[in-house]
Amino acid sequence: MSIANRIARLGTETAFAVSDDARAWGAQGHAIYPFHLGDINIPTPANIMDAAAKAMRDGKTGYPPAAGIPELRAAIAEDISKDRGVIYTMENVSVQPGGKPVIGKFLSALMNEGDEVLYPNPGYPIYESQIQYLGGVAVPYGYEMTARGFRLKREQIEASLTPRTRLFIYNNGQNPLGAESDDEEMQWVADFCIRHKLWVMSDEAYFHMRYSGRSQSIVSLPGMQERTIILTAHSKKYAMTGWRLGAAVGPREVIDVISRLNVNQESCTTHFVQYAGVEALRGDQSGYLRIVEILKERRDTLAAALRKIRGVSVYVPEITFYLFPEVTEVYRRLGSKSAQEFRKAALHQTGVSFCSREHFGRPLPGEERVYIRLAYSGIDKGRIEEGLEGLKKFWES
Ligand code: PLP
Repeated sequence: MSIANRIARLGTETAFAVSDDARAWGAQGHAIYPFHLGDINIPTPANIMDAAAKAMRDGKTGYPPAAGIPELRAAIAEDISKDRGVIYTMENVSVQPGGKPVIGKFLSALMNEGDEVLYPNPGYPIYESQIQYLGGVAVPYGYEMTARGFRLKREQIEASLTPRTRLFIYNNGQNPLGAESDDEEMQWVADFCIRHKLWVMSDEAYFHMRYSGRSQSIVSLPGMQERTIILTAHSKKYAMTGWRLGAAVGPREVIDVISRLNVNQESCTTHFVQYAGVEALRGDQSGYLRIVEILKERRDTLAAALRKIRGVSVYVPEITFYLFPEVTEVYRRLGSKSAQEFRKAALHQTGVSFCSREHFGRPLPGEERVYIRLAYSGIDKGRIEEGLEGLKKFWES
């Protein structure tokens, strides 16, 4: 059997290997503190589950339209418009089975072979995988740590631009860094994309996972709505990761192409799940507010515990459910030879499981500091405290 050549260009989420390690260690009877996966261990709010059950009983079990049921497209358009101060209608929305499919469909719709795409690194690993798989050239851009959190490396972005650059992937409310642009930085990104006539995918998967202040979207800036596709999803906001519900939102001519891709790929997003999606957006929001409250408490608990460990420094973002602490001093103190060895030592000595920077793209030249990512969406407060106590003892030993 010979596998097709293009598969050599397809990446994966290497973080799943971390889950395998944790599972194997747990199977041997050890306690595991899971900080590695961006999944949520909080149930989906009851009103959303009830709406799905009702829709199923009401016979919403056949094929819905490829672009999504009109009620959900309209609800998403309304939701995106209200929060971002722009106007979208249902024609601007293509419902998807999750946020993730928007990445490949955005690229399929707008990227020709050999086109260059600027994308964040460290960043969500599927960007690089899909760019390369679909025949584009993946051009990474990085971030630097400042007193106000992670900031885009603007000179690197400028220097990476070539006549073949066509697309820009922007993940504000960034996984894994929790990076968020201030007004000035977002305006810089917008000016850059307008000046160089780039299409933008604005990955807003974490737009609502925030603990203070207000999220901003690049589509709110003049000249951006017409060149931007928003990736939005119910997954994080309503603890619906396994339901698979999201959408691409943007100019109609691109959205029509994306819906044609739906026809060719999955046909449609699960029918009754879309009714649950309408209830999520239009119904009682107390479930969502409770999710944010729980996550905030976990974030504060984790940040406080990390700050007590000698040699760890951490910036605490107001968005996402990740912390990305710097652990260079600990790494050196333990005499670690690789990120993998450092990670596995923590797992085997303390049961604490996390991802390292390497799980979010190949490190760029000049990166010397060592970072890890801790997700607090899948572990309760008491277990965070317990796990971090063990980690402190081990790392300070
Ligand atoms: N974009 C980012 C930055 C993510 O972290 C994720 C999921 O973790 C996604 C998109 C995909 O989300 P979904 O589960 O809705 O496909």
